[in-house]
Amino acid sequence: PSAADALRLEGAVAGYGDTTVLRGVDLAVPAGRVVALLGANGAGKSTTCLAAAGLVPLTAGRVRIDGADVTGLPAHRRAGAGVFLAPEGRGVFPGLTVEENLALLLREDARAEVYDRLPVLAERRAIDAGALSGGEQQILALAPALVRPPRILIADEPSLGLAPLVVEEIFQIFDELRRSGVALLVVEEKAGEVLAMADTVAFMRLGRVVWSGARSEVDDDLLTNAYLGAL
Ligand code: ATP
Repeated sequence: PSAADALRLEGAVAGYGDTTVLRGVDLAVPAGRVVALLGANGAGKSTTCLAAAGLVPLTAGRVRIDGADVTGLPAHRRAGAGVFLAPEGRGVFPGLTVEENLALLLREDARAEVYDRLPVLAERRAIDAGALSGGEQQILALAPALVRPPRILIADEPSLGLAPLVVEEIFQIFDELRRSGVALLVVEEKAGEVLAMADTVAFMRLGRVVWSGARSEVDDDLLTNAYLGAL
């Protein structure tokens, strides 16, 4: 294992009750790199995110942060160790304002930085987060990571349902975080825009990573085979 891997899953097995979803996931996310995790609906991408963040327990295998075994650590302690999860469906709280959502994770000075950096949130600070557009909600969900960069950012389908321009804005935020040394795991069902920014691509199928390699190795044939299950 490389010491520069901020996040590693080694033979991760996990599921829900009697249902095994992850069947031995091996995945490494180096510091300062973007890993795109792709795969069809139901392949186990979201479960991989939850397992990495400590929200779904492993029944076998290991999770490591900077080489340290955190398999037994609960989610709040992994957050303390630098894991930030932007879950599928945004993870913002409707019924709370933008300001109240930010206040769950950030103190006043950090919130002021958010409003400086992201004027769209400043304009909407008193508005119910549930009334924001999908893109604004995604930006709100990522804002704490932008002003207080985590060690590892895990984003589950951040582009889902968003207009291309908004996706570009969000991927710019990821690029900035990468340059500051954050390890990014970005889950998408389809290859789409995330390919352009990924350093490494990993394909999941039936609870395993069936292929991973440099973005430059990914071509149309590989993509077709990956989604058809021919890898
Ligand atoms: P999606 O794009 O649909 O999120 P995915 O690749 O992220 O796909 P997962 O969400 O990890 O896949 O789901 C993998 C399998 O686990 C699916 O068969 C799904 O039905 C099952 N699953 C997910 N969440 C639960 C849950 N809370 N309880 C039981 N089964 C679940």
